[in-house]
Amino acid sequence: GMNINGMNTTSCMAHIDDYNSNVLIIKPLPGFPVIKDLVCDFTDFFNKYYAVKPYLIEKTPPPGTERLQSVEDRAKIDGLYECILCGCCSSSCPSYWADPDYLGPSALLNAARFVMDTRDEGSDERLDAVNNIHGVWRCHTILNCIHACPKELNPTKAIASLQKEILKRKY
Ligand code: SF4
Ligand code: SF4
Repeated sequence: GMNINGMNTTSCMAHIDDYNSNVLIIKPLPGFPVIKDLVCDFTDFFNKYYAVKPYLIEKTPPPGTERLQSVEDRAKIDGLYECILCGCCSSSCPSYWADPDYLGPSALLNAARFVMDTRDEGSDERLDAVNNIHGVWRCHTILNCIHACPKELNPTKAIASLQKEILKRKY
């Protein structure tokens, strides 16, 4: 990802005609440490991604065949699994700039991707990891992340769904 004329996007998917301008101002992703020129350091971004345990967690013994899903269950991760971890959303989020410990829209959308997966059995620990002031409760629904996402995903909605799952839990 990079910032072209004030908007974050993936430069490989950007079309010059869409900018409607003779002048293109290209900058590295805002809020990310710059290594050199347009190259940003994604270490912190990926550490936040790993913090939400972005993989299927199994607690019961695997079945003899694949873990099957119904068409309806599979549809529950539509709009979540497509994330390419480009960083455009987190880099556009004012809460992400303000709080260096905020997990950010990308990590939280990926947490939702596994929480909503009916094959996963690790929701409790994943929800524990995001149920704090640097997790889902830092989002102020400013919506920048949605406009920034080149895959047209909706991190705000994903964060709201995590908040709902947390509130549904019995303490
Ligand atoms: S909706 Fe939440 S995650 Fe998205 S930009 Fe706003 S504060 Fe950040
Ligand atoms: S949610 Fe969209 S903008 Fe954010 S990292 Fe994934 S693909 Fe990129």
